[in-house]
Amino acid sequence: MSATTTTAATTDRVLNFSAGPGVLPEEVLRQVQEDVWNIAGTGVGIMEHSHRAGTFDRILAESIADCRKIGNIGDDYEILFLTGGASTQNHLIPANLLPEGGTADYLITGYWASKSAQECKVYGKPHTAFDGKPTNYTFIPSQKEIKFSEKPAYVHYTSNNTIMGTQFHYVPEPPAGVPLVCDMCSDIYSQPLDVSKYGLIYAGAQKNLGPAGTTLVIIRKDLLERAPRPLPTLMSYKVYADNESRPNTPPVFAIYAVGLVFKWILKQGGLAPIAKRNQAKAKIIYDVLDGSSFYKGHARPDSRSLMNISFHTPNPETDKLFIAEALKEGMDNLKGHRSIGGMRASIYNAFPAEGCEAFAQFMREFERRHG
Ligand SMILES: *Cc1c(COP(=O)(O)O)cnc(C)c1O
Repeated sequence: MSATTTTAATTDRVLNFSAGPGVLPEEVLRQVQEDVWNIAGTGVGIMEHSHRAGTFDRILAESIADCRKIGNIGDDYEILFLTGGASTQNHLIPANLLPEGGTADYLITGYWASKSAQECKVYGKPHTAFDGKPTNYTFIPSQKEIKFSEKPAYVHYTSNNTIMGTQFHYVPEPPAGVPLVCDMCSDIYSQPLDVSKYGLIYAGAQKNLGPAGTTLVIIRKDLLERAPRPLPTLMSYKVYADNESRPNTPPVFAIYAVGLVFKWILKQGGLAPIAKRNQAKAKIIYDVLDGSSFYKGHARPDSRSLMNISFHTPNPETDKLFIAEALKEGMDNLKGHRSIGGMRASIYNAFPAEGCEAFAQFMREFERRHG
């Protein structure tokens, strides 16, 4: 069996289960190949265009317009393309939104959520509104299991826990009037979302939106006025908003590539058909887990992620063998994160359904031989 491919020209590519940077749509990669040399007949490649001239003006405007169209995002939100990865948001958020000595609530559902709360301590007090650590981050709390503090400046949660393979299947409701902040790195635009429920959404592009190098921030405009302290210029959301994400040189190439992925999402028919496909894809693999006593999933079934499937075999040696044999079949980047071990199959928007079928078949065959 070889990696599932759509055309003969792509046979040198494997099935890429990487958690991030992750797989991108083939037609996007082909467009990038062309545009790196000469974009839109300008005689200049995308990486060589000025960030303040016509070609990039158009690309930035289209990226923002397409982002709004996909997420049905109104003018009361600003769309920003920042740098420094999603991790930089962990300090920009409290710097811009948390008053001196104030409290912000964090739902600790995994590794990244815990890092976010940690960074908040530079500016104020993170309150743990839910702590999944004692139960090894295997599940997502229900609304009833979340204990908010008296008057949080905001509530922060991670919609999809990339490492643990768990995902919120509802939007937690913060106390009245408190902005909801979401790290949506690994499931943004994988399903329809109601942006009006959020004060701020952020996502590093490299999981579901494009290459590494830019972080999408969707922020409600009134929050731009909240900065409770003097900030260095490039730490202020308002500065980025007032300067169309380019107070200095922005990540031109990354914004361009994310723009192409937005166009690809629109071509798929938007988020509803994408969600349907993602559900079907994940089911193919979860069905194998459910029909097996050999494989064990990390997530409690009601908390399963449609993007990252973390699981293991009965022992670490067999895990290693699984990963090695999968690689021989053209299936790469299946090693689980060092914090939980085992395997992780990341099946973002651009990962093909046929790849999930091929993987499920491999899993069954592996179990037959080693179970
Ligand atoms: C990958 C990831 C991050 C970290 O992103 P960087 O861009 O590397 O800083 C944060 N949160 C989640 C949920 C992630 O998946």
